[in-house]
Amino acid sequence: MARTMLAVVTHGPRDYRLEQVPVPDPAAGELVIEVGTVGICASDVACWLGGEHFWGVDGSGGVVEPPVIAGHEFSGRVAALGAGAARKWGVREGDRVVAEQIVPCNNCRFCALGHYWMCQRHWIFGFSQQTPGGMARYARVPEQALLHTVPESLTEGEAASIEPLACAWHAVERGDIHEGDSVVVGGAGFLGLCILQLAKLRRPGQLIALDTKPARLELARRLGADVTINVVTEEAVAIVEELTGGYGCDIYFEATGHPAGVVQGMQMIRKLGTFVEVSLFSEPTMLDWTVIGDTKELTIHGSHLGPGGYAPAVAVLAHGDVDVRSLLAPAHVLSDFDTAMREAVRGDVLKTLILPE
Ligand SMILES: [Zn+2]
Ligand SMILES: [Zn+2]
Repeated sequence: MARTMLAVVTHGPRDYRLEQVPVPDPAAGELVIEVGTVGICASDVACWLGGEHFWGVDGSGGVVEPPVIAGHEFSGRVAALGAGAARKWGVREGDRVVAEQIVPCNNCRFCALGHYWMCQRHWIFGFSQQTPGGMARYARVPEQALLHTVPESLTEGEAASIEPLACAWHAVERGDIHEGDSVVVGGAGFLGLCILQLAKLRRPGQLIALDTKPARLELARRLGADVTINVVTEEAVAIVEELTGGYGCDIYFEATGHPAGVVQGMQMIRKLGTFVEVSLFSEPTMLDWTVIGDTKELTIHGSHLGPGGYAPAVAVLAHGDVDVRSLLAPAHVLSDFDTAMREAVRGDVLKTLILPE
């Protein structure tokens, strides 16, 4: 291995720099992944733009700890193993793997109950100092990380999609879809289109996709939506009511990241319906909460990360049950990070990929 590598290092909002950094060396119990491909997540975009969730207010309370190598949607091959790591994870050099983006403490009360994805004292790849991310040739995987193997049959782009697809899997689990349900997916971005395809596997009665962009709605139709609605040009709430005999949808997945997507969802969901929230927002949502209790007695589920979703995500990709290839833009090289990030920010492609150098 070389001693240094090119990496995208997060310093501040809109201040991500290409730097030569030392190649990580695995300590006992750790391993190093040679990154195959890394995707840019909506959260990377929000962080780059300076989102409050990441940078806090007046520089405190945010989740990102600069300077840190960015990127958590990566997969690759085991390049080096610290003492004991091979046995612990059951992997060898050259094996294809993906690490879950959260590295839990295994000590807090959430971890003790098995709710590791909500760990109180966790690290996240690409955001925490302890876990530099995958926008570099190599990434170090700490001892408490959760590792999954990746079949050789998956393409690089598919392997980099395992993490967001696992998040979509968890969201769909939270939705608790029953056969015959009317399901609406608000937002046909990468995550929304993954949710849509995974929801389809649960045999809903009708699957409806909402977005503002015709090209995304076209793709949603191709990937299994029975009905698509452009929320700019059509009366989405009225259409969903009509399609459901006046009741409204059984389940609404909110994957728009926009306050209007929440309000609209609350309007088109039926009484006693289930609302699943998966978005990150850059502004607060104003809503009369009466709808949640007095009017509809809704079940509201949050959904965070992809616990339990990695193995199923790998399986649906390997079986061809979910198509992510149609969602992936041609990859950029790492030294073109600025171009790649601008592409992701513009949002006219669904997933921007980067190849390390
Ligand atoms: Zn992500
Ligand atoms: Zn914990």
